[in-house]
Amino acid sequence: MNPESVPPRHTEGASRVLVVEDEPALAKVVANYLAREGFQVRIALDGPSAVAAAHEFEPSLVVLDLMLPGFDGMEVCRRIRSFSDAYILMLSARGDESDKVMGLAAGADDYVVKPFGPRELVARVKALLRRPRASSLMPEPLQTPPGLDIDVLARTVLIDGSLVDLTPTEFELLAALAARPDTALSRSDIIAAVWGSSWYGDQHIVDVHIRALRRKLGDDASDPRFIRTVRSVGYALRAS
Ligand code: CA
Repeated sequence: MNPESVPPRHTEGASRVLVVEDEPALAKVVANYLAREGFQVRIALDGPSAVAAAHEFEPSLVVLDLMLPGFDGMEVCRRIRSFSDAYILMLSARGDESDKVMGLAAGADDYVVKPFGPRELVARVKALLRRPRASSLMPEPLQTPPGLDIDVLARTVLIDGSLVDLTPTEFELLAALAARPDTALSRSDIIAAVWGSSWYGDQHIVDVHIRALRRKLGDDASDPRFIRTVRSVGYALRAS
Protein backbone atom coordinates (compact mmCIF):
# COMPACT_ATOMS: atom_id res chain seq x y z
CA MET A 1 0.00 0.00 0.00
CA ASN A 2 1.20 3.50 -0.71
CA PRO A 3 1.93 5.91 2.12
CA GLU A 4 -0.80 8.46 2.45
CA SER A 5 -0.22 12.15 3.04
CA VAL A 6 -2.06 14.28 5.52
CA PRO A 7 -1.93 18.00 4.71
CA PRO A 8 -0.02 19.90 7.40
CA ARG A 9 -1.19 23.20 8.78
CA HIS A 10 2.24 24.82 8.59
CA THR A 11 4.82 23.25 6.36
CA GLU A 12 7.80 25.50 6.89
CA GLY A 13 10.13 24.24 9.58
CA ALA A 14 7.64 21.63 10.70
CA SER A 15 9.02 18.37 12.04
CA ARG A 16 8.14 15.38 9.91
CA VAL A 17 6.43 12.48 11.60
CA LEU A 18 5.83 9.11 9.99
CA VAL A 19 2.87 7.20 11.42
CA VAL A 20 3.10 3.45 10.87
CA GLU A 21 -0.13 1.72 11.76
CA ASP A 22 -2.13 -0.82 9.77
CA GLU A 23 -5.49 0.19 11.21
CA PRO A 24 -6.40 3.00 8.80
CA ALA A 25 -8.91 4.64 11.16
CA LEU A 26 -6.41 4.79 14.04
CA ALA A 27 -3.62 5.94 11.73
CA LYS A 28 -5.83 8.74 10.45
CA VAL A 29 -6.84 9.92 13.95
CA VAL A 30 -3.21 10.02 15.09
CA ALA A 31 -2.08 11.72 11.87
CA ASN A 32 -4.81 14.35 12.11
CA TYR A 33 -3.94 15.19 15.71
CA LEU A 34 -0.28 15.56 14.77
CA ALA A 35 -1.08 17.62 11.66
CA ARG A 36 -3.23 19.94 13.76
CA GLU A 37 -0.17 20.53 15.98
CA GLY A 38 1.80 21.66 12.94
CA PHE A 39 3.66 18.45 12.12
CA GLN A 40 4.13 17.26 8.57
CA VAL A 41 2.67 13.78 8.67
CA ARG A 42 2.90 10.74 6.44
CA ILE A 43 1.09 7.44 7.01
CA ALA A 44 2.41 3.97 6.17
CA LEU A 45 0.14 0.97 6.57
CA ASP A 46 2.62 -1.91 6.45
CA GLY A 47 6.27 -2.78 7.14
CA PRO A 48 7.79 -2.42 3.67
CA SER A 49 6.08 0.90 2.91
CA ALA A 50 7.14 2.19 6.36
CA VAL A 51 10.81 1.59 5.53
CA ALA A 52 10.38 3.10 2.07
CA ALA A 53 8.63 6.16 3.55
CA ALA A 54 11.37 6.58 6.17
CA HIS A 55 13.95 6.70 3.34
CA GLU A 56 12.05 9.11 1.19
CA PHE A 57 10.24 11.35 3.73
CA GLU A 58 13.18 11.50 6.22
CA PRO A 59 11.03 11.89 9.33
CA SER A 60 12.37 13.30 12.62
CA LEU A 61 10.17 10.84 14.44
CA VAL A 62 8.39 7.58 13.64
CA VAL A 63 5.28 6.42 15.50
CA LEU A 64 5.54 2.69 15.02
CA ASP A 65 2.97 -0.01 15.67
CA LEU A 66 4.41 -3.45 16.38
CA MET A 67 1.87 -5.69 14.69
CA LEU A 68 2.03 -4.92 10.98
CA PRO A 69 1.52 -6.80 7.74
CA GLY A 70 4.55 -7.39 5.52
CA PHE A 71 7.10 -7.49 8.30
CA ASP A 72 6.54 -6.38 11.88
CA GLY A 73 7.46 -3.23 13.80
CA MET A 74 10.66 -4.76 15.24
CA GLU A 75 11.98 -5.38 11.75
CA VAL A 76 10.87 -1.90 10.63
CA CYS A 77 12.71 -0.48 13.65
CA ARG A 78 15.92 -2.37 12.90
CA ARG A 79 15.83 -1.39 9.23
CA ILE A 80 15.11 2.29 9.91
CA ARG A 81 17.90 2.34 12.51
CA SER A 82 20.38 1.21 9.87
CA PHE A 83 20.05 4.53 8.03
CA SER A 84 18.21 7.00 10.26
CA ASP A 85 18.53 8.65 13.68
CA ALA A 86 14.80 9.46 13.77
CA TYR A 87 13.22 9.06 17.18
CA ILE A 88 11.07 5.96 17.24
CA LEU A 89 7.99 5.90 19.45
CA MET A 90 6.63 2.39 19.63
CA LEU A 91 3.00 1.46 20.11
CA SER A 92 2.90 -1.61 22.31
CA ALA A 93 0.14 -3.88 23.55
CA ARG A 94 -0.90 -3.36 27.14
CA GLY A 95 1.41 -4.95 29.68
CA ASP A 96 3.46 -6.86 27.16
CA GLU A 97 6.90 -6.42 28.76
CA SER A 98 8.74 -8.58 26.24
CA ASP A 99 7.46 -6.42 23.38
CA LYS A 100 8.73 -3.29 25.11
CA VAL A 101 12.12 -4.82 25.88
CA MET A 102 12.55 -6.12 22.35
CA GLY A 103 11.30 -2.91 20.78
CA LEU A 104 13.68 -0.75 22.79
CA ALA A 105 16.53 -3.16 22.10
CA ALA A 106 15.72 -2.92 18.39
CA GLY A 107 16.30 0.83 18.65
CA ALA A 108 12.99 2.41 19.71
CA ASP A 109 13.31 5.41 22.05
CA ASP A 110 10.03 5.31 23.92
CA TYR A 111 6.76 3.45 23.90
CA VAL A 112 3.09 4.20 24.38
CA VAL A 113 0.78 1.45 25.54
CA LYS A 114 -2.35 0.73 23.51
CA PRO A 115 -5.07 1.84 23.85
CA PHE A 116 -3.88 5.44 24.20
CA GLY A 117 -5.51 8.83 23.86
CA PRO A 118 -4.33 10.80 20.81
CA ARG A 119 -3.53 13.75 23.10
CA GLU A 120 -1.20 11.58 25.17
CA LEU A 121 0.50 10.40 22.01
CA VAL A 122 0.99 13.96 20.76
CA ALA A 123 2.45 14.95 24.15
CA ARG A 124 4.92 12.06 23.97
CA VAL A 125 5.91 12.95 20.41
CA LYS A 126 6.61 16.54 21.48
CA ALA A 127 8.53 15.40 24.57
CA LEU A 128 10.79 13.19 22.44
CA LEU A 129 11.44 15.95 19.92
CA ARG A 130 12.25 18.41 22.73
CA ARG A 131 14.71 16.05 24.33
CA PRO A 132 17.92 17.72 25.40
CA ARG A 133 20.92 16.66 23.40
CA ALA A 134 23.77 15.21 25.41
CA SER A 135 26.28 17.08 23.25
CA SER A 136 24.88 20.48 24.22
CA LEU A 137 24.82 19.57 27.91
CA MET A 138 28.31 18.19 28.22
CA PRO A 139 31.08 20.10 26.48
CA GLU A 140 33.62 18.88 29.09
CA PRO A 141 35.65 15.77 28.36
CA LEU A 142 34.00 12.86 30.12
CA GLN A 143 35.70 10.81 32.79
CA THR A 144 35.22 7.22 31.84
CA PRO A 145 36.55 3.89 33.11
CA PRO A 146 39.49 2.30 31.28
CA GLY A 147 38.39 0.69 28.03
CA LEU A 148 35.39 2.97 27.56
CA ASP A 149 35.73 6.09 25.40
CA ILE A 150 32.86 8.45 24.69
CA ASP A 151 33.17 11.21 22.12
CA VAL A 152 30.22 13.50 22.77
CA LEU A 153 30.71 15.65 19.68
CA ALA A 154 31.19 12.76 17.28
CA ARG A 155 28.59 10.78 19.24
CA THR A 156 30.73 7.66 19.17
CA VAL A 157 31.52 5.09 21.82
CA LEU A 158 34.55 2.80 21.82
CA ILE A 159 34.96 -0.30 23.95
CA ASP A 160 38.60 -1.39 24.07
CA GLY A 161 39.12 0.54 20.85
CA SER A 162 36.16 -0.97 18.97
CA LEU A 163 33.23 1.11 17.86
CA VAL A 164 29.91 0.19 19.52
CA ASP A 165 26.72 0.90 17.62
CA LEU A 166 24.33 2.62 20.05
CA THR A 167 20.89 4.06 19.40
CA PRO A 168 20.53 7.81 20.08
CA THR A 169 18.76 7.05 23.36
CA GLU A 170 21.42 4.58 24.50
CA PHE A 171 24.10 7.13 23.68
CA GLU A 172 22.38 9.86 25.67
CA LEU A 173 21.82 7.50 28.58
CA LEU A 174 25.50 6.56 28.69
CA ALA A 175 26.56 10.20 28.30
CA ALA A 176 24.24 11.20 31.17
CA LEU A 177 25.86 8.61 33.45
CA ALA A 178 29.34 9.65 32.30
CA ALA A 179 28.60 13.30 33.08
CA ARG A 180 28.60 12.38 36.78
CA PRO A 181 30.80 9.31 37.16
CA ASP A 182 30.78 7.35 40.41
CA THR A 183 27.53 9.07 41.32
CA ALA A 184 24.33 7.11 41.82
CA LEU A 185 21.74 8.66 39.53
CA SER A 186 18.10 7.96 40.27
CA ARG A 187 15.72 6.92 37.53
CA SER A 188 14.17 10.41 37.66
CA ASP A 189 17.63 12.03 37.33
CA ILE A 190 18.28 9.88 34.30
CA ILE A 191 14.87 10.57 32.77
CA ALA A 192 15.37 14.32 33.25
CA ALA A 193 18.77 14.15 31.54
CA VAL A 194 17.79 11.89 28.66
CA TRP A 195 14.08 12.40 28.05
CA GLY A 196 13.71 15.89 29.54
CA SER A 197 11.90 17.00 32.66
CA SER A 198 8.58 17.26 30.85
CA TRP A 199 8.61 13.55 30.07
CA TYR A 200 6.03 11.51 31.87
CA GLY A 201 5.42 7.81 31.77
CA ASP A 202 6.79 4.59 33.17
CA GLN A 203 10.20 5.00 34.94
CA HIS A 204 10.84 1.36 34.08
CA ILE A 205 11.91 2.62 30.65
CA VAL A 206 15.30 3.43 32.22
CA ASP A 207 15.86 -0.20 33.25
CA VAL A 208 14.88 -1.47 29.84
CA HIS A 209 17.36 0.85 28.10
CA ILE A 210 20.09 0.05 30.65
CA ARG A 211 19.60 -3.64 29.89
CA ALA A 212 19.98 -2.99 26.15
CA LEU A 213 22.98 -0.71 26.74
CA ARG A 214 24.72 -3.28 28.95
CA ARG A 215 24.22 -5.94 26.32
CA LYS A 216 25.91 -3.74 23.71
CA LEU A 217 28.76 -2.78 26.05
CA GLY A 218 29.26 -6.45 26.91
CA ASP A 219 28.70 -5.50 30.55
CA ASP A 220 27.56 -8.02 33.12
CA ALA A 221 24.97 -6.64 35.57
CA SER A 222 26.12 -9.01 38.35
CA ASP A 223 29.81 -8.11 37.94
CA PRO A 224 29.79 -4.80 36.08
CA ARG A 225 32.83 -3.37 34.40
CA PHE A 226 31.04 -0.10 33.54
CA ILE A 227 27.49 0.39 34.81
CA ARG A 228 26.70 -0.42 38.43
CA THR A 229 23.15 -0.95 39.70
CA VAL A 230 22.71 1.03 42.90
CA ARG A 231 20.05 -0.79 44.82
CA SER A 232 16.84 1.15 45.44
CA VAL A 233 18.42 4.25 43.83
CA GLY A 234 19.34 3.74 40.18
CA TYR A 235 22.59 3.45 38.28
CA ALA A 236 26.17 4.73 38.34
CA LEU A 237 29.01 4.65 35.85
CA ARG A 238 32.37 3.66 37.28
CA ALA A 239 35.02 6.34 36.88
CA SER A 240 37.92 3.92 37.26
CA1 CA B 1 -1.35 -3.16 14.12
